[in-house]
Amino acid sequence: MISDGAAMPLGGQDGEPPEAQPAAAALERIADARATRDVLTGLPNRAVMLDRIGQALADGSRSGGCTAVLSVGLDRLQQINAEHGRPAGDALARRVASQLAGALRLMDTVGRFDGGEFAVLTPVLESPIHAVDLSARLITELARRPRQGDDGEGVAASIGVAVSVGGRGTPESLLEEAGAAMRRARSLGGARAEVFDDSLWLKVQQRWIARQMLQKALDERRVAVHYQPIVDLADGRVTGYEGLARIGESDGSILPPGAFLPAAEDSGLVVSLGGQVLEQACRDARAWQSPDDTLAAPSVSVNLSARQFRSGDLPAAVRAQLKRSGLDPRQLHLELTETAITGPQPALIEQLRQLRDLGVQLGLDDFGSGLVSLTQLLRLPLTYVKIDRAIAQGDGSDPSSTQLLTGAIGLAAELGLRSIAEGVETDAQLERLRELGCDEAQGYLFARPLPLHELPETLRDHNKRSSWRL
Ligand code: C2E
Ligand code: CA
Ligand code: CA
Repeated sequence: MISDGAAMPLGGQDGEPPEAQPAAAALERIADARATRDVLTGLPNRAVMLDRIGQALADGSRSGGCTAVLSVGLDRLQQINAEHGRPAGDALARRVASQLAGALRLMDTVGRFDGGEFAVLTPVLESPIHAVDLSARLITELARRPRQGDDGEGVAASIGVAVSVGGRGTPESLLEEAGAAMRRARSLGGARAEVFDDSLWLKVQQRWIARQMLQKALDERRVAVHYQPIVDLADGRVTGYEGLARIGESDGSILPPGAFLPAAEDSGLVVSLGGQVLEQACRDARAWQSPDDTLAAPSVSVNLSARQFRSGDLPAAVRAQLKRSGLDPRQLHLELTETAITGPQPALIEQLRQLRDLGVQLGLDDFGSGLVSLTQLLRLPLTYVKIDRAIAQGDGSDPSSTQLLTGAIGLAAELGLRSIAEGVETDAQLERLRELGCDEAQGYLFARPLPLHELPETLRDHNKRSSWRL
């Protein structure tokens, strides 16, 4: 019933070359394989893993036996994608797939999920402790050089273990538990295994509650967008506003993204969330006007998640919202993070080109915080970078942060990109940014993100108090 998870190429699996098969049958086989296998590694995908875990739990509830699910995450995959390009990351994932498949018993299954995470099912275990032994063995196996003479290096992996005794839980809950334990292993420095326990149980429950809450808010269209002004440092003019997602609760309280984005990201709800934010932002910005005819109307910046690029129809969705709202495409700025640009490069760049062809401007968020390489930066059709708050907040007291800030602003200028600093809270920070030639800034010094109806009043008040013309 449960077969091994060894990599299986698509097509031609019965020894007959694919071209010898009738075309329709070959296509059908490929479609079937795609529905059950991860295309990159040929391993079972999430749907198959859920099915097999379900079978193991059913057996467990009859026999009272023990089943384990392991979530295996590669600690540096994102960094490798960023530094050496996606093909290097893909090659690594394939290698890990075959190492994992080779290290398991025949009755075990290894699968790979979207986002580069692997899962291992051991349907029958003598005792939970054997799952911990197995994790330690897999970590050691992956950390070794793959084969003698092979020039690859070992890989650091974090493993989370969830155990079910007597069929406890559901396939989804076991995967969730294993994932939570894996994230804890990673947060403790990686290259180690952690077992799901009561302290993590609370976290899983919280995430589950957050997901339900978000789903409800999306259904009831309670997602609001707050706007934070972005100021031109040359003349103090507000050039635009960044739209930031909020959820309005029935008691009048407002939830910030930290309360729902993690649950949105790992459930895929972030795609619907992004759609609702985009729709509102375009509609709101349509009414914004410039103070006089010589200036462009204020822009609206919308944050995009990596998942929205993976959903495949982002340019079409943006085009539809622009059409529906009547917003001038030049007014719409889309911000992507470094995780979004570590996805499959040709597909990503094609989507970015299509967005640029619509007339939309693209910016890289959290610039300077991490991994993006110069080569990557050059390949992306960007118009601006948002300098990460941690760097922008330097006030000159720490020489290394000043170097980073100078470097980030200088690099942006050299690449012909506008630089926008975020998180500006003090006059000293602002002065420093102006001295270093940063183009624009946003932060609590000017205004917090505000509901649409509070924008004009706050800006007027601020104007009276501040030497900045807002
Ligand atoms: P971000 O894009 O880097 O947004 C800037 C964050 O910094 C916002 O937090 C903003 O409220 C906060 N901020 C602005 N000025 C200051 C300041 O002077 N000091 C400090 N300490 N913080 C300041 P917020 O609204 O909590 O958003 C957090 C993150 O959530 C955003 O970071 C963005 O990555 C994400 N996010 C927000 N809305 C959306 C959305 O609609 N879609 C997606 N995918 N992500 C979103
Ligand atoms: Ca942003
Ligand atoms: Ca940012």
